[in-house]
Amino acid sequence: MSPFTRMADRGFDLEDRLATLEEDDLKRALSPVDRVAERGYFAAPSGGDLPVLDAAEALVFASNNYLGLTDDQRVQDAARQAAATVGTGAGASRLVTGDTLVHRDLERLLAETKDTERALTFSSGYAANVGTITALEPDVIFSDELNHASIVDGCRLADADAVVYDHCDAASLRAKLAERAERAAREGREPADESWLIVTDSVFSMDGTVAPLEGICDAAEEFGAWVMVDEAHATGLYANGGGVVQAEGVEDRVQIQMGTLSKALASQGGYVAGSAELIECLCNDARSFVFSTGLAPPAAAAASEALHVARHSDARERLWENVAHLRDGFESMGFEVWGDSQILPVVVGDRQDALALADGLRERDVVVPAIRPPTVPDGTSRLRVVPMATHDRDDIVTCFEAFRAAGEAVGLL
Ligand code: PMP
Repeated sequence: MSPFTRMADRGFDLEDRLATLEEDDLKRALSPVDRVAERGYFAAPSGGDLPVLDAAEALVFASNNYLGLTDDQRVQDAARQAAATVGTGAGASRLVTGDTLVHRDLERLLAETKDTERALTFSSGYAANVGTITALEPDVIFSDELNHASIVDGCRLADADAVVYDHCDAASLRAKLAERAERAAREGREPADESWLIVTDSVFSMDGTVAPLEGICDAAEEFGAWVMVDEAHATGLYANGGGVVQAEGVEDRVQIQMGTLSKALASQGGYVAGSAELIECLCNDARSFVFSTGLAPPAAAAASEALHVARHSDARERLWENVAHLRDGFESMGFEVWGDSQILPVVVGDRQDALALADGLRERDVVVPAIRPPTVPDGTSRLRVVPMATHDRDDIVTCFEAFRAAGEAVGLL
């Protein structure tokens, strides 16, 4: 009997939990290591040529490496140079001895791109969300029903009243704000006695939808709330790379812009951009910043270089061309495609059909994993197709051919 089984006997019930997940068809697992070695392409663009691994020839249409920059020579050189000159790790929290010029350069570039006074990096986007929301200590948080788990966890830890509004629905948000204002008035409190925070993803990763930021800012201003926008899936892609906040021209109406360095910026880490005062407060009160080691210098340097490339090359343009081409192709094949961003959820419905379609694509050397409950609601299982800037026309034709053949084999077309 393993020590873990003994733990289960003491009330942890790990075996039962795993068995239930298995029965419900919900069990997830990392792939066996030989499969991981075979598909070392996961972070690489089309048919990634990874010398260290015996990479299979397969096309990945599912990565958040939207601009294909994990593979870019300039980005890799920046990481290498930082490792050689600054070191592979920060060695301590930024407030102790972990602060370096590499961090400062990245934060300056982020603030300049986002058009804010300052920016601050965290060890992940998850840590940025949890640390920021808890540091603000809002009395009430208004949160989109499909916000990312790190926002949900931030809301839980902040111990605020959480009010969930309908997905991407500014009218639903406004109604919830009005309800709360009426309640405060009934209880004899002024709205200004409470701090209210509205928080939303800008691009939603599983539905590909884009938050109606103007309507959200209108509602926020009417009720004196602050707005925090998670630009994890938009940083480096929208407007000049700043995100949807910038594309919508609401920079002056959004108090907190947060994002990750791990998607279009091809690295690892998270950031918050906003006023100098906000950043000063986070340096003091965001526990995931204060009590966590600074970003590894190679990660910070890679993100800086990737942001520079994203802003000053044609990579964004190539990505958006691929997005338009893929959406048209899927729709003319008869698939239902949701969203209005670079994320193209091809909706299948049944979870078994989604798994069968993903397997059929894999057999044809195209990788698009199925997304199923509990990540998405029952009956809306889907394949989340994501092109990269580095896919060429032949890659896209291969993707279409695989979808057609696998879709017919599963009986979806
Ligand atoms: N917010 C959103 C919307 C995300 O999709 C993610 C990553 N999946 C995060 C935050 C967390 O970012 P990170 O991976 O850098 O922790």
